Amino acid sequence: MATLQESFELAPGVHRLETVEDGKMHGYHVVEGRSGLAVVDPGFATAPTDVYGPFLEEQGRAWDDVSMALVTHVDPDHHGGLHDLRSHAGTVVSAAHAADAPLMESGERMIDERHSMFAADHGIRYDEEVYDWLRGMLGPDEPIDLRFTGGEELRLADRTMRTLHTPGHTAGHLMLYDPTHDVVLGGDGFFGRGLFDVDGEYLQPPPYYLYPAYEQSIRYVEALDPDVLSFTHYDVLRGDEIDDFVEESLAFVREIETLALDVLDDHGTITLREAIDAVVDRRGSFGLDDDLAFPLSAHYTDHARRGDLETTAVDGVVAWRRTD
Ligand SMILES: [Zn+2]
Repeated sequence: MATLQESFELAPGVHRLETVEDGKMHGYHVVEGRSGLAVVDPGFATAPTDVYGPFLEEQGRAWDDVSMALVTHVDPDHHGGLHDLRSHAGTVVSAAHAADAPLMESGERMIDERHSMFAADHGIRYDEEVYDWLRGMLGPDEPIDLRFTGGEELRLADRTMRTLHTPGHTAGHLMLYDPTHDVVLGGDGFFGRGLFDVDGEYLQPPPYYLYPAYEQSIRYVEALDPDVLSFTHYDVLRGDEIDDFVEESLAFVREIETLALDVLDDHGTITLREAIDAVVDRRGSFGLDDDLAFPLSAHYTDHARRGDLETTAVDGVVAWRRTD
């Protein structure tokens, strides 16, 4: 069972709560508002009871003090705990980007449209145990009360924080920016060269599927030049560490863009499955190799949109080739 391992302030009134779940860092946030506390990501199914509960106790606060839950994006370890949160704090108002909210409200739709997005066109699905694991992080469906589009300002105790629409990993990914203290709460905005467990073991490649949106989101944060960047699955980044992480994230994008076209030119016509296998042949394993489907399809789709690739069908799945 996950427990609160540590909590600390990133800036006055901006708390980071850390727990380790499935061997992976999960950093969640509580922001002190004018009339209560805002939770940034309810977390996985039991995170409110197991992680936020001990934090509130430590702070001498009650569940009734929690008035808002801002959800950064659709994924079970970010919104799966909304039901548990509401079982403690019944009047909590939930908010998320309009593009992600409908999938958050239906776990089965999320599994279909997000976690099986390569099944119909590319014949790529996770093993059943991965779906079981995803469902395990997901509490019962809950409505999202407020639909955001990015740029909303949240009046808090002594400052205003702003939501940033930062698509790439999902269409409606939001970060939360505190311009007074130069803090960005990043959710899963970008990923360096991938995700690691707490022992430093590489787990999976950056799961972005929207390009160039992903790169634009990285550059948006780079331009804001925050002092503190707090992503869910990484230690808190400060100063030069942020510059390095930005550079590492952009370097992966360039690498996969080059690889995608190189393996396509080798094959002439290539399916997503063939592209994954060819990239692993060249570069070795990326841990959860099937997750290369996200960035590879992102880059092929971008080239197809720009007209230098076209899609065709091979054995009932989508394939890409150069246009003449
Ligand atoms: Zn995510």
